Amino acid sequence: MDLSARLKQFKETEYDINKEKYDRIVASQNPHTLFITCSDSRIDVEKILQADPGEIFHIRNIANIVPRDKEPDNHPSVISAIEYAVKVLGVENIVVCGHSNCGGCAAMMHVQDYETKLPYTSEWIRQSILIRDCVKEKYSELSEAEQLEKLEKLNMVQQLDNLMTYDFVEEKVNAGTLKLLGFYFDISTGVVSEYVFDEEMDDLVKEIIKKREEQFQTE
Ligand SMILES: [Zn+2]
Repeated sequence: MDLSARLKQFKETEYDINKEKYDRIVASQNPHTLFITCSDSRIDVEKILQADPGEIFHIRNIANIVPRDKEPDNHPSVISAIEYAVKVLGVENIVVCGHSNCGGCAAMMHVQDYETKLPYTSEWIRQSILIRDCVKEKYSELSEAEQLEKLEKLNMVQQLDNLMTYDFVEEKVNAGTLKLLGFYFDISTGVVSEYVFDEEMDDLVKEIIKKREEQFQTE
């Protein structure tokens, strides 16, 4: 892959042609949305939202995880970007977007097999391990592929609750100045479904949160 050729092509066929658009964002950015999704290369956020440069603030990591506040594992990289987006940039929306055939969620299903080979990845995805346990228990009759899809969706919903553990997020959501949205991108159809309140999912998230709290109290 010749990246230098791509850079030249960008300058000539994108930047120069749309110079006015880029001139407007030279001095500052004013994004309306913080988009948290998986590092997966198949998710092109600007294309999905048909957005221009300057519209979307990004956080990407394996399996689109937001660490919960006040849990022992500290991951300030993710939280600092959320803090900046909410407190400084004043975004109107935070989207957490899961997707089909997520390698991070698939690894979560068998995390014990990856601990030696991928120690950092294993440590990271273990943050969602209770979600995996919950899916395996509740949907034991489903196939592995169906369980994976449940995990991808439930993991996305859980992250919305994880966002609410931060006071600066909760305050703005309660004041109606910040919206939290869950998306699920099905790569095989191009459909991005928006999460709407689902009682079953909501009950599962509550169950997982209770288990998490119990776990950290006993440690
Ligand atoms: Zn993924």
